[in-house]
Amino acid sequence: MQSAIDLYDAIIIGGGPGGSTAGSALAQGGKKVLILERERFPRFHVGESLIPYGNDELRSIGVWEKLEAGGFMPKLGAEFVLGNSEAGVQIRFGRHLPQSYSRTFQVERARFDNLLLEHAGESGCEVWQEARVEAVAVSDHEVSVTCLREGKRHELRARWLLDASGREAVLGKHLELPKTDLGMPKKFATFAHYHGVKRNPPPDDGHIIIVRMDFGWFWLIPLDKEKTSVGLVQSLEHFRQSGLKPGECFEEVVASTPELQKRLGEAVRVNEFFHAQDFTFRYLNNAGPRWMLVGDAAGFIDPIFSSGVMLAVKSGHLAATEILRADRAGTSLSRGARRRYTRQVDKMSKVFLRMIKMFYSSNGFEVFLSPDPDENAEAAVYNLVAGNTDLTWKQHFGVWYFYLICFLQRKFAIAPRLNFAIKPKE
Ligand SMILES: Cc1cc2nc3c(=O)[nH]c(=O)nc-3n(C[C@H](O)[C@H](O)[C@H](O)COP(=O)(O)OP(=O)(O)OC[C@H]3O[C@@H](n4cnc5c(N)ncnc54)[C@H](O)[C@@H]3O)c2cc1C
Repeated sequence: MQSAIDLYDAIIIGGGPGGSTAGSALAQGGKKVLILERERFPRFHVGESLIPYGNDELRSIGVWEKLEAGGFMPKLGAEFVLGNSEAGVQIRFGRHLPQSYSRTFQVERARFDNLLLEHAGESGCEVWQEARVEAVAVSDHEVSVTCLREGKRHELRARWLLDASGREAVLGKHLELPKTDLGMPKKFATFAHYHGVKRNPPPDDGHIIIVRMDFGWFWLIPLDKEKTSVGLVQSLEHFRQSGLKPGECFEEVVASTPELQKRLGEAVRVNEFFHAQDFTFRYLNNAGPRWMLVGDAAGFIDPIFSSGVMLAVKSGHLAATEILRADRAGTSLSRGARRRYTRQVDKMSKVFLRMIKMFYSSNGFEVFLSPDPDENAEAAVYNLVAGNTDLTWKQHFGVWYFYLICFLQRKFAIAPRLNFAIKPKE
């Protein structure tokens, strides 16, 4: 059965952080917005560590106080350590960043995404859950969406379409938009929740802990007093070569890695293993006259620096700002506005991409783990890890200096050479 056609200012595909942020900002700007979400929230989702430079957007849509009151685990920094425990570094945001970026949260996504989606509803969005978008059509003047909800097909029309469907990338696939794979090898991630993981003593107990091996890395994200999210990321090739099932491979790495044994030796898994594969890509254009791509639907980069949710809320907020501006002028998105949006989103992900390449190169990681005698370079690295993509000239200089040392490290051991193998040196 098909329902009557309804007209909205904007339709948003997906009620994750990108869709909810865009929806809240548009509804608060007076727009009639419909969010279509395939799942029933709360639902499990990967991506549980936030970074502080996404705080601004959460404050701007008015959801920050709800997060503060929501009992989420405060995150004051990050720790990076080798799997053999031979070297590591603690990053405490408060050391180099202004107060408003000195902390953020670790979030169980089921609860976080639900809170954001409810906030979008309270801001004025109409939210349909268990509503799967099946088809889209876009023209220079309007958009239409076919959506299946409770066995009924709905034809919906709007002036604007935002695709925030995550790595499903509904619109990008439908329009067959050109994309680049950014030259990163395909990855495979296996993850689950555990009780009883050994934490750092306070005030570092909320840190994300990244354990780096020669073939991949683990994340440990404390979610509440008991629960810790634990995940292994490795190249798809390495995983396939193991010939093991995802959970078996995960457990084998834990059993053979001293740092993980120390932290997970007594821990008990409390849910099933999940897995995800084949990450990094970017669409070359993130906007058309009447549509915009938000968050993962615009592109995805390796999760090592926990950039995904920040990029989703920032791009969601930016997209809403562009739409509100165009609506005030009574036009579709000009070429300039589309280019500006794509450039802004691209610029943010490129900052992370460079860091990601540094992380996976042994020379870069050797420099990253060494406390830098130059305060400017250290402050610049802290800014990058916290997600600051809008650096001052002084910070740019620090970043430039840091990457210069990483480059020189290939030839000269400016930072101590590290042993990345799981086995400690005899
Ligand atoms: C292994 C791994 C680890 C990660 N770790 C982190 C981390 O620590 N920190 C971090 O910030 N990020 C992390 N990320 C990235 C993070 O998960 C994403 O970047 C983030 O969720 C993007 O938000 P989004 O709103 O764009 O998309 P999503 O959160 O994916 O939301 C998209 C929504 O769209 C809905 N949807 C999809 N298709 C349809 C459809 N056809 N119709 C209707 N609805 C639809 C989905 O159900 C979903 O709810 C990680 C990712 C991976 C793969």
